Amino acid sequence: MFPKEIPVTPGHPSPVIVPRADHPISRANISPGALKVLYRLREGGYQAFLVGGAVRDMLLGLSPKDFDIATDAHPEQVRKLFRNCRLIGRRFHLAHVRFGPEILEVATFRAAHTEIDEDHGVDEASHRVLDAQGRILRDNLYGNIEEDVWRRDFTANALYYNIEDFSIWDYVGGVPDARSRVLRMIGDPETRYREDPVRMLRAARFAAKLGFTLHPETEAPLHKLAYLLDGVPPARLFDEAMKLLLAGSAGASCNLLARMGLLSHLMPDVVRAVNEAPDSPGARLVQLGLANTDDRVREDKSVTPTFLFAVLLWPAILREAGAPNGPLPDDPAVLGPACDAVISRQVRRIAVPKRFTMPMQDIIMMQPRFERRAGRRAARFVEHPRFRAAYDFLLLRAASGEVDPELAAWWTRLQELGPDERIAEVESQPRTGDADPRSRSRRRPRRPRRPAT
Ligand code: ATP
Ligand code: MG
Repeated sequence: MFPKEIPVTPGHPSPVIVPRADHPISRANISPGALKVLYRLREGGYQAFLVGGAVRDMLLGLSPKDFDIATDAHPEQVRKLFRNCRLIGRRFHLAHVRFGPEILEVATFRAAHTEIDEDHGVDEASHRVLDAQGRILRDNLYGNIEEDVWRRDFTANALYYNIEDFSIWDYVGGVPDARSRVLRMIGDPETRYREDPVRMLRAARFAAKLGFTLHPETEAPLHKLAYLLDGVPPARLFDEAMKLLLAGSAGASCNLLARMGLLSHLMPDVVRAVNEAPDSPGARLVQLGLANTDDRVREDKSVTPTFLFAVLLWPAILREAGAPNGPLPDDPAVLGPACDAVISRQVRRIAVPKRFTMPMQDIIMMQPRFERRAGRRAARFVEHPRFRAAYDFLLLRAASGEVDPELAAWWTRLQELGPDERIAEVESQPRTGDADPRSRSRRRPRRPRRPAT
């Protein structure tokens, strides 16, 4: 199951070269922009390789989502070759080359890792900066391909496709690992996770997305090191969470993250709520919502962080609102603060931007309105700009067993009616005035006027 024993330590002298005839990667599957960049680098006298996910995916017969390029040209030299080129990144300098809608990432080979300076955490004139835990804060020390390979994360991600003769260069046994679907960390796993704890999330992502098995030594330190995620900046965790959740395998990724003990460092409230009430509608809604998101990605339909976070946080919000097993309390004075509290704790871990949390809160605060079917207000609700998202959420609540499916079916029918029939329908509904905070406020006795002074 776990093939080959090429020593995966820096210094392995020369690559195994897999010639074009022995692998399935064809230029027909490489984007026109990537080919242009590769050829122009080569014409400029530089080495040019396709690297990372694109090589891995094509080897597996999948179509890559983007094409990363590695070269011995320095970023400034790359810029001179392309008019449409921008240098980006501080932690990690890169060149972005644009061809029409395509952006190609061109990275210069990085040098081998040197000894960490315990006192300063800085080496080579600050081109590489590490913190006291060995975490890489900046890596801009350039090198050659023999050095570059060792800073990559997994063997299957460290394959280089050479535009010179269309061969694959494999220093780490990545080709046999990919063929037997094994995800194996290059070098000593614990050290590599300490250098960059996000690699733990990447392990879960690739295993879930590609159906790879983690090599036992790659998996072993995860539980012990999960706490390192607490030190990762929340903005980076948001980027990584998006890659984990919007790539078509959110369900599998979350299950793996939970098994690895990582999820409780990303979404502690959600893990607590689900563990306390594993058979609750809220817990079921998370599973259904993630499966639904994955189906939409596969069908090429749009998916939004807004809806996704509403799904994920739902059991935590129900718990916070004092109803861990549902149903949702129909009182904005309970629901509002519960929502606020859960969101504000969550964004301290994963920095979900306000442009997603605000509409997410709307979707949640709109849920009690579905209980009120009588009157023109119900008919107008259908026209609300966020109605569709709130209604999709209602469907999930119905599927999870939290609300009566008949209620969801009624709202489905209401949308299909024309304007006049819609008014007739809502006016035929029995009034449930007590549940409507508006009618309640209408009945509330007026405060006595202050006596004039
Ligand atoms: P995807 O299909 O999601 O794009 P990918 O493997 O291409 O997967 P990227 O994040 O695009 O992943 O990175 C490209 C390559 O850069 C990786 O394959 C890996 O070799 C290297 N890499 C990226 N992030 C890291 C990291 N945190 N640590 C080590 N190597 C990394
Ligand atoms: Mg990539």
